Amino acid sequence: MKLDYEKLGLKVGLEIHRQLDTRHKLFCECPTAPREGGREITFIRWLREAQSELGEVDPAALFESWKRRMIVYHANTESTCLVELDEEPPHDLNREAVEVALTAALLMNAKPVDEIHVMRKIVIDGSNTTGFQRTCVIALGGEIQVDGKKIPIQTITLEEDAARIIEQKPHEVHYDLSRLGIPLIEVSTAPVISSPEEAYKVAHAIGRILRATRKVKRGIGTVRQDLNISIAGGALVEIKGVQELDLLPKVVELEVIRQLHLLKIRDELERRGASEEELRKEPIRDVTRIFAKTSSKIIRRKMEAGGVVLALRLKGFGGLLGLEAAPGIRLGAELAGRARAWSEVEGIFHTDELPGYGISEDEVARLKEEVGAGELDAVVLVAAERERAEDALERIRERAIEALHGVPSETRGAKPDGTTIYLRPRPGAARMYPETDIPPLPLPREYVEEIRRRLPPTLDEVAEELSKKHGLSRQIIDELIDSEKIELFERIVGETGVQPSVVASVLTEHMKSLKREGCEVERIREDDLLEFFRRVARGEVAKEAALDVMRWLARNPGKSLEDAVNALGLRAVSLEEVKARIAELVEANRELARSNPGKAISIIMGELMKTYRGRFDGGKLYQLVSQAVHGQGG
Ligand SMILES: [Zn+2]
Repeated sequence: MKLDYEKLGLKVGLEIHRQLDTRHKLFCECPTAPREGGREITFIRWLREAQSELGEVDPAALFESWKRRMIVYHANTESTCLVELDEEPPHDLNREAVEVALTAALLMNAKPVDEIHVMRKIVIDGSNTTGFQRTCVIALGGEIQVDGKKIPIQTITLEEDAARIIEQKPHEVHYDLSRLGIPLIEVSTAPVISSPEEAYKVAHAIGRILRATRKVKRGIGTVRQDLNISIAGGALVEIKGVQELDLLPKVVELEVIRQLHLLKIRDELERRGASEEELRKEPIRDVTRIFAKTSSKIIRRKMEAGGVVLALRLKGFGGLLGLEAAPGIRLGAELAGRARAWSEVEGIFHTDELPGYGISEDEVARLKEEVGAGELDAVVLVAAERERAEDALERIRERAIEALHGVPSETRGAKPDGTTIYLRPRPGAARMYPETDIPPLPLPREYVEEIRRRLPPTLDEVAEELSKKHGLSRQIIDELIDSEKIELFERIVGETGVQPSVVASVLTEHMKSLKREGCEVERIREDDLLEFFRRVARGEVAKEAALDVMRWLARNPGKSLEDAVNALGLRAVSLEEVKARIAELVEANRELARSNPGKAISIIMGELMKTYRGRFDGGKLYQLVSQAVHGQGG
């Protein structure tokens, strides 16, 4: 389906978060790069009810406190101190991070604030030990040009990264604290992006500007993109946590399809006369006995654990829950997602997908009769302990009522396939209050002007220069820049002296072809690639072995280049050994070498490559063979 985004009134705003590669964290002296060793500390907290200073309860905070979970923190003494543990007030704002953010801000023509005020933003999912995230605005009102279009940059802020979830159970969540406090820059655009492709281009352009500071982290988990998306007649939906740039257009497209689908369902519900009043009056019924002999495993398991099966009729919803706009995009999935997020139930079914999942036709018929469901009605079932099942169905009722009005405004999370899942209500305005432990930091004009004078070259300028320096095309250099391999490329060429074109083709072509094979190339450590080229430079391995070595490293994470060389039998081969073998082969092909030297060379080369591929430089081998053949023949 080709969508006319302009006609649909698509508006997208981007929020790009990127970790800064500073020496230490934003509010303490802990390192931002992982370190070996240290002691592990574990401690437990419970979620607390969070109120803003005005006494209003934030809807997003209320959502989390509803879940009453135990939070277990894991801290390593090498990467955390008392600040992350919330046992000590924050130290001064990291000046290096401020400078990087200011540099980025000036590159985007934004206006730095006169004074930096650190604020506290409520987050009580446990991802911060304090119950809030510290954040501060660095600059406002910038703009960038993307394909000739002006994209306003609303704010550039600095904030502390959150702790990372390492394990999640129904009533328990585990966080690792080493990421907590790493400086993040956040760049927010105005909601002027009007197509999926443009979302990609804008994010790409901002990424290049941030990288021009030379002070941002690279690799998986260092970038997170949030979007806010709306279409005419739909609602503003926030989508969190898109990690891959390439996924952005798909996320936008699927969100448009989802909103259109919900609008279509709204219209159909209206035609069928579904009403909010009726939905609110509808009782939740206990239908446990219908399933006394069910073959549904999950229902049986829940009943054995003392649970019940409760049902809610949704008048007018028949056929609409299972209707699919795109893979995974169904109203049924939305109802279940809402119930799961709030009540953490597993056994949710609706009649559009039944019979199925071990639930028989007979059970469905009895269920429909029991709740009085007609042709155009749907029934939702939840199997769980009574209180939880009731709560889940109340959430489903709420979500069904929202379906009468179209698209609910909410916060959703991006999944790797580009679809999204309900996360929580959108936060209210009462989320921020001042951080009193940190004094405001003035940004004198002279200081800002000093940074402006020292602005780094843009990546376009850098690419131009590198292309000349290494004699490579702009296209290859840009590819290295966009795949974030340029730093590695420069390091390898600088330290090993291997030909730039060879290094570039390994880092671009080889990477791409391995990716096409389904290899997880992200697992290949940069240090191992550097070591590989060191050995190539010393003549210990041949550059032709690159593909095999990389494939092996990607498949054996945690292993070293030395392991790869041993496993692949790439142990060094001496020039003497090679020469001796060549002499043997020339002797064996003596006749042919005289009558048809070209053919002899090719036969001998083929034979040699069986043993020496990747262990001896191919070009050099050819040279030796050709000398030996002609020498013999002459
Ligand atoms: Zn610390």
